[in-house]
Amino acid sequence: MEFCEFCGNILNDDGRCPWADCPHNAILDVMAAAETADKQTDTDDTNGGT
Ligand SMILES: [Zn+2]
Repeated sequence: MEFCEFCGNILNDDGRCPWADCPHNAILDVMAAAETADKQTDTDDTNGGT
């Protein structure tokens, strides 16, 4: 069981905070978006390279 570092709520099973507006969720969203972008740049390699 993990507690949110911002509001102290018990985190959901998926690791998100039950408080929808919590910064914890915002950070998770940013990290997920960054990971997605990472994968996209990985596969979209055709216009890369210097
Ligand atoms: Zn929280």
